[in-house]
Amino acid sequence: MKVKDNIKAVKDKLNKKHCTLVAVSKTKPTETIREAYDAGQLDFGENKAQELQIKAAELPGDIRWHMIGHLQRNKVKYIAPFVYLVHSVDSMKLLREINKQGQKLNRVIPCLLQVHIATEETKFGLAAHEVIELVQASDIREMQYMQIRGLMGMATNTRDIVKIKAEFAGLRQLFEKIKTMAKPENVVMQELSMGMTSDYEIALEEGSTVVRVGSAIFGARN
Ligand SMILES: *Cc1c(COP(=O)(O)O)cnc(C)c1O
Repeated sequence: MKVKDNIKAVKDKLNKKHCTLVAVSKTKPTETIREAYDAGQLDFGENKAQELQIKAAELPGDIRWHMIGHLQRNKVKYIAPFVYLVHSVDSMKLLREINKQGQKLNRVIPCLLQVHIATEETKFGLAAHEVIELVQASDIREMQYMQIRGLMGMATNTRDIVKIKAEFAGLRQLFEKIKTMAKPENVVMQELSMGMTSDYEIALEEGSTVVRVGSAIFGARN
């Protein structure tokens, strides 16, 4: 199947739910991304800062680039001028660096806090209580060059649908809880980034507003 048909197939499932599709193009060449762009896709996700920077320079300026992978502090500068949304903020230190780079550019950088919801140890992210501590920390208020727009999470890589569903439901609950909490103006709970190729339909049922889909669009990665 062609990239264009794959996008349409995924979008047909999302449209009823007003959910944004981020096409995860990591490892794929710019020609392939261009094919998706020509089919009307504007949101793309990458997991490496330098790869993202190179691709952004080669591709049209109206693409909305999403950083979805673990971001090291010394690499924030590569994507700070243009990144549309950083999905993977998992520490106060990283948030401080994002704010610092935003200040240099006089640009507010939108971020999501990555929450660890899977049972696997290898996945990055904050624990639920750390997320709550972070959004209530007094430093946040002063970071005027970043905005926390919501949460991101990855479910356990399993075929157990009940488990995946429970993990997404837990993230949704945390999202709703923070919504009702007193918090600084630069923290809003608007976006809930959850769901990838294997589990985005479950994530949609649990209230996802952004799904990050790679292989269902571009085929398997090497
Ligand atoms: C690679 C990746 C995806 C997309 O994975 P697929 O299974 O190919 O859809 C989504 N989110 C993150 C954080 C990723 O690294």
